Amino acid sequence: MTEVSVTKDATPPAGDTLVALSAVNKHFGALHVLQDIDLTIARGEVVVVIGPSGSGKSTLCRTINRLETVDSGSITIDGKPLPQEGKELARLRADVGMVFQSFNLFAHKTVLENVTLGQVKVRKADKKKAEEKARALLDRVGVGAQADKYPAQLSGGQQQRVAIARALAMDPKVMLFDEPTSALDPEMINEVLEVMQQLARDGMTMVVVTHEMGFARSAANRVVFMADGRIVEEATPDQFFSNPRSDRAKDFLSKIL
Ligand code: ADP
Ligand code: MG
Repeated sequence: MTEVSVTKDATPPAGDTLVALSAVNKHFGALHVLQDIDLTIARGEVVVVIGPSGSGKSTLCRTINRLETVDSGSITIDGKPLPQEGKELARLRADVGMVFQSFNLFAHKTVLENVTLGQVKVRKADKKKAEEKARALLDRVGVGAQADKYPAQLSGGQQQRVAIARALAMDPKVMLFDEPTSALDPEMINEVLEVMQQLARDGMTMVVVTHEMGFARSAANRVVFMADGRIVEEATPDQFFSNPRSDRAKDFLSKIL
C-alpha cells in the first residue's frame, strides 16, 4: 500500500479507512475488467484515478456504489459490506454520491426539484427543509439563480454543478466523479473543477476519474493509475507525474502531457 500523502496544503489530512476494496474481481463475459483490485481510501482523502480508455475506471466507480456487482472480493464502506437490495441499497447510493460525465439530471424536474427529491424520498427529509438545503447548495456551487429552471435551459457546466449539488444534498460519505468534465465545452471545465477543488478543501472524501492533470496535481492526495483492469501504480501526484515507475504509466503520460 502506498503511503497516503498528507502534505497538501489545500486538503486536510486523511483519517481512518472509509472505503476498502479487497481482491475485487469482475468479468464482463470473457473480459476480466477488474483484476484483484485492492484499494483503501481514507476519510477525507482525494484519490484521482487515471488510465487509458477501457482500463476499468468507470467499472471501478460503479462497483463502489453497487451499480455493478463484483464476482469476488469484498467492498466495505465505513466497515460495512455493500447492501444487496431494497432501502439499504438506496441509502448506500445516497452515502456514495456519484457524478457522471453525462450529468444525468431528471429532465422533467426543475433544478430545485432535482436537488430536493432524494432528500425527501431517501433521507425522509421535510420538504421545506429539503428546499432550503437545496437552495443553499445551489448557491454554494454558483447556480442559485437557476433553481426554477429545467436542466435543458442550463449550460453543461451549470448542469454538472447541479448534479454535484444533488449528490451533496444527500450528505454523502464519499463522492465519486467519473470524468465529470469530459462532456463539457472547454470554457466550462474550470467552473466545475473549482467546485470540486473547494469540496476537496472542505474535507470531502473523493474518488475522481479524470484526464485533468492540473486538478490531479493540485487536489489529489494520491494518484491511482489503472491499465487493463489492474492498479498498476499508486503514488502521490508529485511522484507520479515527475517519476512514474511503470512503462504503462510512462507511455500514458507521454501521450497526454
Ligand atoms: P474506462 O472507464 O477505464 O474507459 P470501463 O470500466 O468503462 O473503462 O470499461 C472497461 C472494459 O469493460 C471496456 O473494455 C468496456 O468495453 C467493458 N465494459 C464496460 N461496461 C461493460 C458492460 N456493461 N458490458 C460489457 N462490457 C463492458
Ligand atoms: Mg470510463
